[in-house]
Amino acid sequence: MTDYRHLSYWLSGLDEPLTPRPGLPGDTDADVAIVGAGYTGLWTAYYLARADPTLRVVVLEREIAGYGASGRNGGWCSALFPTSLPALARPHGRDRAVAMQRAMHETVHEVGRVAAAEGIDCDWRAGGTVTLARGEAQLQRARAEVAQAHAHGLTDDDLRLLDAGEAAARCNAEGVRGGTYTPHCAAVHPAKLVRGLARAVERRGVRIHEGTAVTALRPGAAVTAAGVVRAPVVVRATEGYTPGLPGRRRTVAPVYSLMVTTPPLPEQTWARIGLAARETFSDHRHVIVYGQRTADGRLAFGGRGAPYHYASRVRPDFDREPRVFAALRRALGELFPVLGPDVPVTHAWGGPLGVARDWAASAGLDRRTGLAWAGGYVGDGVGTSNLAGRTLADLIRGVESDLTALPWVGHRSPRWEPEPLRWLAMNAGLRLMSSADRTEHRTHRPSRRADLFNRFLGH
Ligand SMILES: Cc1cc2nc3c(=O)[nH]c(=O)nc-3n(C[C@H](O)[C@H](O)[C@H](O)COP(=O)(O)OP(=O)(O)OC[C@H]3O[C@@H](n4cnc5c(N)ncnc54)[C@H](O)[C@@H]3O)c2cc1C
Repeated sequence: MTDYRHLSYWLSGLDEPLTPRPGLPGDTDADVAIVGAGYTGLWTAYYLARADPTLRVVVLEREIAGYGASGRNGGWCSALFPTSLPALARPHGRDRAVAMQRAMHETVHEVGRVAAAEGIDCDWRAGGTVTLARGEAQLQRARAEVAQAHAHGLTDDDLRLLDAGEAAARCNAEGVRGGTYTPHCAAVHPAKLVRGLARAVERRGVRIHEGTAVTALRPGAAVTAAGVVRAPVVVRATEGYTPGLPGRRRTVAPVYSLMVTTPPLPEQTWARIGLAARETFSDHRHVIVYGQRTADGRLAFGGRGAPYHYASRVRPDFDREPRVFAALRRALGELFPVLGPDVPVTHAWGGPLGVARDWAASAGLDRRTGLAWAGGYVGDGVGTSNLAGRTLADLIRGVESDLTALPWVGHRSPRWEPEPLRWLAMNAGLRLMSSADRTEHRTHRPSRRADLFNRFLGH
């Protein structure tokens, strides 16, 4: 049997057996069939069951709830949305773009509220995010980001510039020249959240069948080897694993994000580093890194940088990339020299997230076919999946609401290019971003190389 505890530090320490729930016993009728028991599938089930306890909701999961990115992520429950405000405002207008951002802000509180109400102890701490500017190029990006947010009506209460002293007071990393701070983020234990959510939906009468792979998704049916779930609405909540479904190879590209964690650090080390409010932290480099101070006093730190795999393949051995783990340890040591030259690491893991061709997350329901979906969150799905769940619940129940009017609803991203173009472009883009970071580190000036990749993506 699969040892699910190896999948992440978060899953490794859970105080519960990770034995799969019983699989689908045979053909079944339901009102809604949901494929995937990560945050997206479970939040959708949660809000459906909460709004209408008579609905028959069935969740089908190939492995166990939280097997995917939801049990492995960095634990930033943030208001980050992969499409920027100007990119949203261009087609939808400024007001709708800002409404989207405000809905994301509200989502962070909603996750905290539901976790508390449902007794999900997920080490929730709403300490905000500090994004450091280390070097002139990063400082310029920090200033531009704040200026852009403020030009769209957000204020210092949403995102503000920090001087070097303020930034270092929150997160005392090496070479801090300033940074930005947003209060709209909470640090969470991602696996406690997803596993607790699974129990909460079961308490509300939702049936979760684990060890049940869906082999085809079609109007009115989710097909498995054990039987068919017949339902007028079928929800695809498979994010980075979507390319494995028939006909879905080019819907999203699975991009890997990898993480490491230190052992619990002594108090005197934390006194040097800071993060006293458990702020999640990052810096303004191109190849994204992210970290949190865990409730048990570790640094959990991750980043992109793993290669994209040909034909959007997803395999367990892709979760582990020694070169990236070594780079993450190096990056941690550069940020916090107090950790010493050989940063101690107890766990290393990774997983796929989902990226749409236009980098746009979306949630929608095709009323003609009854097929619903949500995803393409890039690396920002912890919060966004809750908004997706609430939105899908309204769409499925035929309720028109502020949520169903948001600009991401019903958005259809173009498909990714066929191979080998996709493979060439993704990995060339990754190299460009990495080399832009190296150049900026050396010259202290902004590199234009990253713009090339952004243009390919249509940003
Ligand atoms: C290392 C890492 C760090 C991240 N850090 C952050 C972060 O700090 N903040 C943030 O906001 N986001 C982060 N993300 C992204 C975030 O975790 C995801 O966006 C989010 O968890 C997606 O949830 P989901 O339910 O849509 O997908 P998943 O959690 O991936 O769930 C999909 C589920 O579908 C199941 N499935 C797939 N195919 C089938 C099938 N055919 N039949 C049945 N079941 C199937 C899978 O087994 C899986 O359980 C990170 C991701 C990774 C990998």
